[in-house]
Amino acid sequence: MAKRMLSEAEGYELFQKYGVPTPAFQIVTGADEAAEAASEIGYPVVMKIISPQIVHKSDAGGVIVGISGAEEAKKAFNGIVASAKEYNPDADIHGVIVEEMAKPGLELILGGKTDPAFGKVITFGMGGTLVELMKDVTLRILPVHESEIRTMVKEINAYPLISGYRGMKPRDEESLIAIITGVARFFEENPNVMEFDINPLRLYESGACAVDARIIVD
Ligand code: ADP
Ligand code: MG
Repeated sequence: MAKRMLSEAEGYELFQKYGVPTPAFQIVTGADEAAEAASEIGYPVVMKIISPQIVHKSDAGGVIVGISGAEEAKKAFNGIVASAKEYNPDADIHGVIVEEMAKPGLELILGGKTDPAFGKVITFGMGGTLVELMKDVTLRILPVHESEIRTMVKEINAYPLISGYRGMKPRDEESLIAIITGVARFFEENPNVMEFDINPLRLYESGACAVDARIIVD
């Protein structure tokens, strides 16, 4: 079968099975339905386009955060669909995902790819658009033991932002290790998964939350 990208919702559901916390979400196909879903989830919410042809949703005007009422939710739905169609008139629009808005946190990236020589490789590093330029990432070839994941986390230059820098409170390193361990197991146990990323994973003083998920299967 040809390579295809799972939706963010499918990604969240799969990752949840491996212990990755995600926002609560609903998939909607109309503006009124979007407002209903938002009120069930609880404001503020985030809405994003669902289209197999749109990989970088923000580039397509396909992400709106901080939606705080029913009228805004309806407007956001229509706006997202219109922007996506303008960005790529040929894109299939499967709907919009309405999700809980996660609080701000340290933005990290977890990823996986299949290397022709080494096989499955997982990566971990700093997320956020600016830090992506600095490529502060580390990687391991699967299979990987939890003790090796502990070492991996400490390898990035920005590790002090996790362990507590200049009086900042430390973040939940144990949750992070459990999440990376879960994600590595996810990659090992699903041979049809070629590539994935969670960008970003938000890490808190207690717990974490994945606010995007992209999985490519073959
Ligand atoms: P893209 O496909 O462009 O990577 P994302 O799903 O990562 O789209 O959303 C873009 C940005 O919006 C994220 O990097 C994050 O900062 C913010 N965001 C997305 N979803 C949420 C959410 N549920 N709660 C809070 N912020 C979010
Ligand atoms: Mg993203």
